[in-house]
Amino acid sequence: MRLDGKVAFVTGAASGIGKHIAQVYAQAGAAIAVADLNPQAAEAAAAELRGQGACALAVGVDVTDEAAVDAAVARTVAELGGLDVLVSNAGIQIVAPMVDFSFADWKKLLAVHLDGAFLTSRAAMRQMVAGGRGGSLIFMGSVHSKEASVLKAPYVTAKHGLEGLTKVIAKEGAPHGIRANLICPGFVRTPLVDKQIPEQARALGLSEEDVVKKVMLKETVDGEFTTVEDVARIALMFAAFPSNALTGQSLVVSHGWFMQ
Ligand code: NAD
Repeated sequence: MRLDGKVAFVTGAASGIGKHIAQVYAQAGAAIAVADLNPQAAEAAAAELRGQGACALAVGVDVTDEAAVDAAVARTVAELGGLDVLVSNAGIQIVAPMVDFSFADWKKLLAVHLDGAFLTSRAAMRQMVAGGRGGSLIFMGSVHSKEASVLKAPYVTAKHGLEGLTKVIAKEGAPHGIRANLICPGFVRTPLVDKQIPEQARALGLSEEDVVKKVMLKETVDGEFTTVEDVARIALMFAAFPSNALTGQSLVVSHGWFMQ
């Protein structure tokens, strides 16, 4: 599972899951575009990779901004010499009951997850088709691509939507050697989840400990969080897999929370 000579564009790579995927890809030999809304954090993450001997470029980009995404991908191709792997991972979470959800928050969440996935994958596919060397698109879904939870109407909607996008790109990309797959993690302790614990505790009238035990990890087989290492291993497999045999798939990595 090596990525020598490959270039990977990873969104949301300044934090959490995306940051760890960038590290694993760099260790596997890839050059990395560390793409994130937070340019200082992107630069810090890229500098960390360069300090470990990797080739890494920080790219400040809002994945919901069409012109900025196209420019960020073009810059990556110009500076790193091509594009072989996209990890569309940037995401946010907003929790509230359906009846209290503001339309603005609904649109904000769908924009980051769905517009972001569309814009980054369209820009990546254009470069991959023009480059003629195929590629791998990896979307960050969730167990919420398969299951629902209370308080998460737009998140569950968006994560289900990514499964559809993955399948369309698998079909349209195949003639060009472009694969598309979806990773569906269970809960992973990242800033995105740490923020939710007190919010869910308030909304559900539970202690924070009970939110973790009785809500987040209740359906797992062993009461364990999924880790950034677990998710990055799957991301490496999808990136390095050599043929169209593995495309249009979703893989759930969740300690058995969801079994298909
Ligand atoms: P995180 O908050 O640690 O990192 C998310 C990163 O995305 C941040 O660096 C943030 O700056 C960036 N980002 C946010 N909006 C952006 C935008 N508009 N443009 C560019 N970058 C933007 O979160 P995480 O837990 O690592 O989540 C990463 C992905 O994994 C998300 O898509 C999330 O839905 C998914 N996921 C997370 C979990 C979990 O339990 N943590 C489980 C399943 C799926």
